[in-house]
Amino acid sequence: MQLHENHSLAAYNTFGIDVKADFFVKVQHLSELKLILSNPLYLRLPKLFLGGGSNILFCSDFKGLVVHLELKGIEDLGDGLIKVQAGENWHHFVLWSLSKGYFGIENLSLIPGNVGAAPMQNIGAYGVELKDVFEHLEAYHIATGEIHNFDCASCRFGYRESVFKNIHKGAYVILSVTFKLRCNANVDTDYGIISEVLNNRGILTPTPKDVSDAVIFIRESKLPDPKEIGNSGSFFKNPVLSLSDFEPIKKNHADVPFYPSGTGQVKVPAAWLIEKAGWKGKRIGNYGVHEKQALVLVNYGGAKGSDIYKLALDIQSSVENQFGVHLNMEVNIIH
Ligand SMILES: Cc1cc2nc3c(=O)[nH]c(=O)nc-3n(C[C@H](O)[C@H](O)[C@H](O)COP(=O)(O)OP(=O)(O)OC[C@H]3O[C@@H](n4cnc5c(N)ncnc54)[C@H](O)[C@@H]3O)c2cc1C
Repeated sequence: MQLHENHSLAAYNTFGIDVKADFFVKVQHLSELKLILSNPLYLRLPKLFLGGGSNILFCSDFKGLVVHLELKGIEDLGDGLIKVQAGENWHHFVLWSLSKGYFGIENLSLIPGNVGAAPMQNIGAYGVELKDVFEHLEAYHIATGEIHNFDCASCRFGYRESVFKNIHKGAYVILSVTFKLRCNANVDTDYGIISEVLNNRGILTPTPKDVSDAVIFIRESKLPDPKEIGNSGSFFKNPVLSLSDFEPIKKNHADVPFYPSGTGQVKVPAAWLIEKAGWKGKRIGNYGVHEKQALVLVNYGGAKGSDIYKLALDIQSSVENQFGVHLNMEVNIIH
């Protein structure tokens, strides 16, 4: 385990923001994590635990210790129960599960990042969320050094939410996640665009691998690749509105898309609101809003995180002024 000082984080966040961490360390075993967290030199420092860096925006240098979690291993416990260490790449795990005949996460193909961060915001895509296949997780409690188990109920998963993003923020390091995958090959193709792609490919009875391939195709055609243009995927969550808040928007914009979301509520695509407010494709020097995907803020190269954050705030207030809707940020902002 090697500790680096004044270490660039440019390669460790998909926005590609070139900030520095006072201290940076890669951790491959629990023993190393315990060692570094109990070292008196770092006890009082702010700490940040990093996976793939695909849901984070650094607004300045990090004045503390960044721990890059590289714990590896996938363990088949039988009966569809699979225990995966935090540092495994999410998409590799999806492909691994397909190759072993375990199903249920094919709709979550190609989501960037690592398994340890997946419960943080209950990752979701194309009608499936992590909570649908979640069994439990093990997390290291930083204050006591104890390992605690969290089942689905205690994670309090919601739409891009969990206890680790709110009441337990910064208190735990997620070490491993155990999934309950299916052994039968039933697929979920309810999401319109998936069935469209499968139909275009002449696939009438799709396998989970077909669904995964379709999802990969859709994502590659819709979303900018962080290796080419720095970004963190959807910057904002889709707002969930009461019918009374939604009514005036619908009255003024008959074309507004919406989806039922619980009793008396609708979900409105944030991308639609941002586009209507005139932000889609807007470029300010070396950063901006992606030309094809209004929900994605981008770093064209050399942008500062604080500039992208300021852009996000401007978008927030412009949507609020125009529609009376507050957009919550999905990306974790590090000031
Ligand atoms: C192109 C693109 C597309 C995306 N599409 C989707 C999508 O469809 N659906 C979706 O839900 N998300 C999507 N995302 C967001 C992102 O991929 C997920 O949120 C992913 O789970 C983040 O994983 P990560 O390892 O990169 O997390 P990081 O960015 O490294 O970390 C995110 C947060 O979790 C904390 N953290 C990370 N690991 C741990 C751990 N083991 N223990 C405790 N805290 C930890 C970090 O401190 C940080 O606060 C997309 C991102 C990109 C760039």
